[in-house]
Amino acid sequence: MTDPLIPPRLRDDCFAMPQGVSWVPVEEALERLREILQPVAGTELLPGRDALGRILAEDAVARRSNPPRANSAVDGYGFAHAATGEGVQRLPLVAGRAAAGQPFSGAVPPGQAIRILTGAILPEGVDTVVLEEDCATDGATVAFDGPAKPRANTRRAGEDVAEGAVALRAGHRLRPPDLALLAALGIAKVTVFRPLRVGVLSTGDEIVDDPGGAAAPHQIYDANRPMLLALAERWDCAPVDLGHVPDDPAAIAATLHRGAAEADVILTSGGASAGDEDHVSALLRARGTLSSWRIAMKPGRPLALALWNGIPVFGLPGNPVAALVCALIFARPALSSMAGAGWAAPQGFTVPAAFSKRKKAGRREYLRARLDSEGRAEVFASEGSGRISGLSWATGLVELPDAAAEITPGIPVRYLPYSSFGL
Ligand code: AMP
Ligand code: MG
Repeated sequence: MTDPLIPPRLRDDCFAMPQGVSWVPVEEALERLREILQPVAGTELLPGRDALGRILAEDAVARRSNPPRANSAVDGYGFAHAATGEGVQRLPLVAGRAAAGQPFSGAVPPGQAIRILTGAILPEGVDTVVLEEDCATDGATVAFDGPAKPRANTRRAGEDVAEGAVALRAGHRLRPPDLALLAALGIAKVTVFRPLRVGVLSTGDEIVDDPGGAAAPHQIYDANRPMLLALAERWDCAPVDLGHVPDDPAAIAATLHRGAAEADVILTSGGASAGDEDHVSALLRARGTLSSWRIAMKPGRPLALALWNGIPVFGLPGNPVAALVCALIFARPALSSMAGAGWAAPQGFTVPAAFSKRKKAGRREYLRARLDSEGRAEVFASEGSGRISGLSWATGLVELPDAAAEITPGIPVRYLPYSSFGL
């Protein structure tokens, strides 16, 4: 018997680009990835309060209406609208009151009124409430100016969500307000995807793991791994630290084996181009599953895509700036799709530029950017791909189109805040 929870495996050649394709536009690369990738994580049943950040694997259906019964939206006096009219209304008050959690058990006769508080179920005979501030009372009678609007200041049963209705769709990632909705609708448990396990691996003979440790002049601290692990965490995935390996094919292969066993997808950084020291791509090519997507984008050299034991491997550039941009543009929607939340495109904003730049046609460019006090996008002074400080200086990216562009101050540009990438 086949297990219904095992998704169809990706074919070894799934990342192959059509023959003859040289530079792939960003949109086309995204479209291809979107077609190829699908949810891979299994599911589990969790109490709503433990499901923050999880993705619904099934629709969440209301077990109860919200509100469950018609009730008062204000503190005031309730009565039957049909027995009231224009001008000053004086209605005798019935004994007792209706409050939240303390329903009034009797009926209110037509032409009479009852003291009612916010959240109280409308007693039998009450369909309209007048606000306390619009009333005068001596304790025995209540007076107000008619006409009242029928059903004023009341909430219909199920006016928010009706029992049996889909409250949240499969694929939705649960945020704090969603937990309120689930609880209100009596949904105690939800079927969610298990967090996508994201393996992160750094490569390079020059890389040193521990920023607290010693580093020789030719060595640099591993900047990508903490960043990529933190991205995975921010994206509600389960980060799997695969550590750092030198530029040694056997060591890289051993770590990819481990990663394929412990993770659902692997992000590598470094060694992904086609040069002599690009051991990740050499290894993946030797295994026959590599496809180097030459994406028409700056920053970012080829994005290496491959399968290792059936697990997708995203070979990100080594430069931290390029690694981040490629992770935000490609890995984020890909991981979102694999995690079960569907493809995730960032929500951009059009803002005036605070900078000048001329670009040629043929590739998309991402610049480290932030908004100035007038809401215009300024960009980091250097476009150097090794300038990690620019990533911290920035609050997002400016995306310049594939076509040629001549940007001068005031020209609208597309700004993608880090928050639009879930950072
Ligand atoms: P590569 O893609 O391996 O050719 O690396 C490109 C550049 O990024 C080189 O200058 C590397 O030293 C640097 N680099 C690679 N991996 C990392 C890393 N994990 N942290 C910081 N810099 C890196
Ligand atoms: Mg390298």
